[in-house]
Amino acid sequence: MSEFRVMVIGAGLGGLCLAQGLRRNGVEVTVFERDDALLTRSQGYRLYIDPNGDRILRGALPPELYELFRATAGYPPLRIVKLDDQLNETRVLEDDPDETPISVDRLTLRQILAEGLSEHIAFGKKLVRYETSEDGDGPVTAHFADGTTATGDVLVAADGINSVVRQQYLPHAQIMDSGVRQVYGKVPLNEQTRALFPEVMFNVFTPLVGSRERYMGIGPHQPHEPATQAAARLAPDVELHDGGDYMACYFGARTERFPHDDLRTLTSPELHQLALDMTADWHPRLHAIIEHWLPEAVFPLTLRTSIPVPAWPTTRITLLGDAIHAMSPAGGAGANTALRAAAALTEALAQAATGAPLIPALRTYEADMVEYAYKAVREAAQDGAERYHQNPLPSA
Ligand SMILES: Cc1cc2nc3c(=O)[nH]c(=O)nc-3n(C[C@H](O)[C@H](O)[C@H](O)COP(=O)(O)OP(=O)(O)OC[C@H]3O[C@@H](n4cnc5c(N)ncnc54)[C@H](O)[C@@H]3O)c2cc1C
Repeated sequence: MSEFRVMVIGAGLGGLCLAQGLRRNGVEVTVFERDDALLTRSQGYRLYIDPNGDRILRGALPPELYELFRATAGYPPLRIVKLDDQLNETRVLEDDPDETPISVDRLTLRQILAEGLSEHIAFGKKLVRYETSEDGDGPVTAHFADGTTATGDVLVAADGINSVVRQQYLPHAQIMDSGVRQVYGKVPLNEQTRALFPEVMFNVFTPLVGSRERYMGIGPHQPHEPATQAAARLAPDVELHDGGDYMACYFGARTERFPHDDLRTLTSPELHQLALDMTADWHPRLHAIIEHWLPEAVFPLTLRTSIPVPAWPTTRITLLGDAIHAMSPAGGAGANTALRAAAALTEALAQAATGAPLIPALRTYEADMVEYAYKAVREAAQDGAERYHQNPLPSA
């Protein structure tokens, strides 16, 4: 085992995938996570993993955990049919029977990614700042809210859209409000609730466009095998959250369409009622779907995006995921891009751990990442402008 030591801030999908990859390459890594446990924050939506994300997970995870990921995933048909608010089909946007999209429950995937890392994740460690050596060529020290510190050769910011590291390191890299708000809900699927959804909504995703810049999105998550059963069969030591089968739904509109400036001040039942009130003129079946949202699982989302910045000089601080390339969820590409960056950074750090010069390896990682990740940010903003009426990114 080499002495080279990597510190990762944030145990989200990107940070955990990086840690898995580094462990597979024998690189010493510690992930510092502000929450006290993995499931402290419930984030109740499913994610769409693209073929590249799938390939990266296969490379990063030990074989039995990759199998567990595939067993707990859902495989809805890749057909996207746009509807209006009276449930009329208005356009087929995508239809490819040869491609199999992968839907995952976010919490289940995060648990799988954290498996085997218990000695490499420090919970309850909220980073407040970091410090570099005077010449920038020595170790980096991380300072945490509890007064403790940790030191390593590299500090990786994987601390999400409000990244403390980014704010200190690249203060000019800004996040902007895209002018759109969404209210998320989910409907657990059982015999009774299944009947609420027209067949078309069991495709990978169904966008629905109403008048006055209102819209809805619906996507199923039906795991191939229940998470607990798959864990018992494939990795008996692994304890998995079992979200069951559900439909993930959101209602959204431009900010000025909502009667409240800040949806975060509302309780879940208030948000639920708001979604019902704002869709009162929609097809009764859509209304019934919203009525069946699990009341405690309703949460608000302010759509935000990073604003791409030019490449910066490479140092022992680097970034991945939403910390540097947060994007509109319109394209379903944020996590997939974070996984891609995690795989590339694994390679760079594994080279450095075996004696290759660190800064050139990180420079190559950052030069590539800035290109593909900001391309994804711009495409997501374009999708968000078309689908959600979100504000455009400032021109470069
Ligand atoms: C509603 C919605 C739907 C989405 N759907 C998709 C999809 O279908 N497909 C897709 O590819 N992407 C999707 N995305 C985007 C995706 O969720 C993100 O891009 C992805 O989670 C980013 O991962 P990350 O590891 O960079 O950050 P995060 O997952 O945000 O993780 C950051 C971690 O850092 C921790 N942290 C934060 N600050 C500190 C600190 N100071 N100290 C220590 N720890 C800290 C946090 O607690 C968290 O655990 C969606 C996003 C949203 C909001």
